[in-house]
Amino acid sequence: MILCKKAADLTNLLKTISDAQTPIGFVPTMGALHEGHLELLKQSKAATGFTVASIFVNPTQFNDPADFAKYPVTIDKDILALELAGCDLLFLPSVADVYPNGTVPVKPFDLGRLDQLLEGAFRPGHFQGVAQVMQRLLELVMPDKLFMGRKDYQQCMVIARLIAQNKWPIELCMIDTVREPSGLAMSSRNMRLSEAGKEAATAIHRALQSLRAGLRPGPLEPMLLSGRELLEQAGFGKIDYLAIADAQTLEPVESWDGRQKLVALAAAFLEGVRLIDNMTLS
Ligand code: AMP
Repeated sequence: MILCKKAADLTNLLKTISDAQTPIGFVPTMGALHEGHLELLKQSKAATGFTVASIFVNPTQFNDPADFAKYPVTIDKDILALELAGCDLLFLPSVADVYPNGTVPVKPFDLGRLDQLLEGAFRPGHFQGVAQVMQRLLELVMPDKLFMGRKDYQQCMVIARLIAQNKWPIELCMIDTVREPSGLAMSSRNMRLSEAGKEAATAIHRALQSLRAGLRPGPLEPMLLSGRELLEQAGFGKIDYLAIADAQTLEPVESWDGRQKLVALAAAFLEGVRLIDNMTLS
């Protein structure tokens, strides 16, 4: 695996790959890698000829500085895992390399309502930071295929919008969430949970499953109330949201017509750790 720390070296290296007409796959991450990240890598390797992964804990997407400070860093382990998984190139840039003109964006990204709904409402500025870092990384790598996890469903919608706005010839491949046998979605943040916390956290998956199982045409609020109760009983403290939304626009849906494509999404705190998950319902 090639390890590359400088943006200029990355573009030079990738030019030789794209000149050879080899399709490039890209897996952007913030490190603290787990099986979910490695699944993206596996899918990229299967679908392209050269896989680039990046590890960069992007400061501009953390609306809470304490969350940024607590973000787990396991770089040596990550490099080994990527090497063993057959990653071709790891881009490991510094903040100065990603943001040569500083971290303050020239102008805000037009993310439409995605900036205001769900994660957008609870993490002001988060998706602006995500768009900012992805604009830069995608300009540098310009992959044929970009691999991202459905685990961050709203983030995928933001990136799809960014790709469309820039008219980039990049295919966004959304990969299903990899879960622990217990149902808990794998996440770098799970490392901060106790063993009992990991067990209790499975309630988020159970709540989403109960929404899927209970889905009937008509008002959705009663189902959401029972879902919230399930989370509270399991010990979740603050529930930012447990919501059912249109699978494309993420606008809230109050009553189902039996046809609309829906996604259920949740964000809630357990042991001070903010966990998110989602599930398509129909
Ligand atoms: P992160 O390092 O958390 O920014 O995640 C990097 C990429 O891995 C994003 O596209 C995530 O959606 C994806 N990802 C994170 N957790 C999982 C998971 N459990 N299953 C599949 N993809 C995931």
